[in-house]
Amino acid sequence: MKNICELPVRTLKSAILKREISTREVAHSFLERIEERDSEIHAFLTLDHEQVLDNADKIDNQIEKGAVSDKSILAGIPVAIKDNIVTRGTRTTCGSKILGNYIPPYDATVVDFLQREGALILGKCNCDEFAMGSSTENSAFFPTRNPLDTERVPGGSSGGSAAAVASGFTPLSLGSDTGGSIRQPAAFCGVTGLKPTYGLVSRYGLVAFGSSLDQIGPFGRSAEDVAILLNAISGHDPRDSTSSHRPEEDYTARLQRDIKGTRIGICPNWFTSGLDPEISSSVKHAMEILEGQGCSVIEIDLPYSDYAIETYYIIAPAEASSNLARFDGVKYGFRSSDHTDLESMYRNTRTQGFGEEVKRRIMIGTYVLSSGYYDAYFLKAGKVRNLIKQDYLKAFEKVDFIAGPTTPTPPFKLGEKTTNPLEMYLSDIYTVGTNLAGIPGLSTPCGKTSTGLPIGLQLQGPHFSEAGMLNLASVLESELGN
Ligand code: GLN
Repeated sequence: MKNICELPVRTLKSAILKREISTREVAHSFLERIEERDSEIHAFLTLDHEQVLDNADKIDNQIEKGAVSDKSILAGIPVAIKDNIVTRGTRTTCGSKILGNYIPPYDATVVDFLQREGALILGKCNCDEFAMGSSTENSAFFPTRNPLDTERVPGGSSGGSAAAVASGFTPLSLGSDTGGSIRQPAAFCGVTGLKPTYGLVSRYGLVAFGSSLDQIGPFGRSAEDVAILLNAISGHDPRDSTSSHRPEEDYTARLQRDIKGTRIGICPNWFTSGLDPEISSSVKHAMEILEGQGCSVIEIDLPYSDYAIETYYIIAPAEASSNLARFDGVKYGFRSSDHTDLESMYRNTRTQGFGEEVKRRIMIGTYVLSSGYYDAYFLKAGKVRNLIKQDYLKAFEKVDFIAGPTTPTPPFKLGEKTTNPLEMYLSDIYTVGTNLAGIPGLSTPCGKTSTGLPIGLQLQGPHFSEAGMLNLASVLESELGN
């Protein structure tokens, strides 16, 4: 069978279950691709070929016995995992030196779910340290490169997961999105990425960055592939107290349905200065296509979204500074050998173990939480967050979805923004509002720049509107010929 690495997940799964191809052969094909090109892309941090082939054999055995069958959502399908999601017995670094040799004793719930559904877990993908960044250059190990132009970044923080799908190293991968880290790299790498509604996917086993913002979500080459992976990873988890109790839904059921009458909101001030003109025209072109399919495009106002970046960069670092207090050289991973007493052990471990950006966030976070500043910053940011959320809820009384650009610029060059953190933070200007409001957001490819760089369109919708959002993306895909 040819082109195994390009097949849609549905086709690949059916070929595996019909025994036209074994899981081992599938694994071989993808491992071969990885062998050929990952020395250039650096999408993976940890990948054990032998173990992948062993696991493939196990899945083939289960297929033989009927334990993995048509009912298994991901029978034999490879999935790569961002390295801030814990995997029992496999190193989980979070892209950080402080967890450089950390081997978790348990699996994240999403990893359990993937295994339950017959998926073949491929390996762990590179990311910005503790998911802080927009280019994967903050990984303590190496940067990942954009497979479409290796001089450029793949986006971040889930850059390894996005680049792995875009390179054909895997049909599916998982990322995490605290402020845009699935959607922004999806846009930069020309793939589809979804940040689910807060609570739809368990965070148990996701190393916490900003707990009230973090969500795990899928990457794939199409809306359908993303919907299939979402089917596998969503659902209630008693081990995550913020996990939703909603009944499970089939996210593939509504794909390629008529979108006539769908009301799509656009926010005119997202199309003003600061947005790359080629992105602006691609997104507008996609809106025309949607209108041609019978959608109505309605202008909306999200006045407080102007404060989304500022609000996010108070709340996320505050939560991060508290979450990262656990990395002290005692409980996990790296411990500095250079110490004379407990305090110098803590200090030197954290000084040597964390990178620049993580330290910057811890400093900002402890500052905005400290007595005397708490009311002025953290408390205030919480109030503005609520106003941002109310803006969205009000908008969703008028429209079904909101569409706009995912990123203000196309993928930038490696090193271009590393010396200017504020510039880097602005990469997330269109994505952070989604996390602050807890709503879902998706990035789907909607064109290319004149130099061939991918452009992403972002859809945002009310809480738990993933099925409709994926439908809209699937229709757009076929209309654009993606
Ligand atoms: N780029 C943003 C940040 O650095 C978002 C990161 C994320 O979503 N994990 O915080």
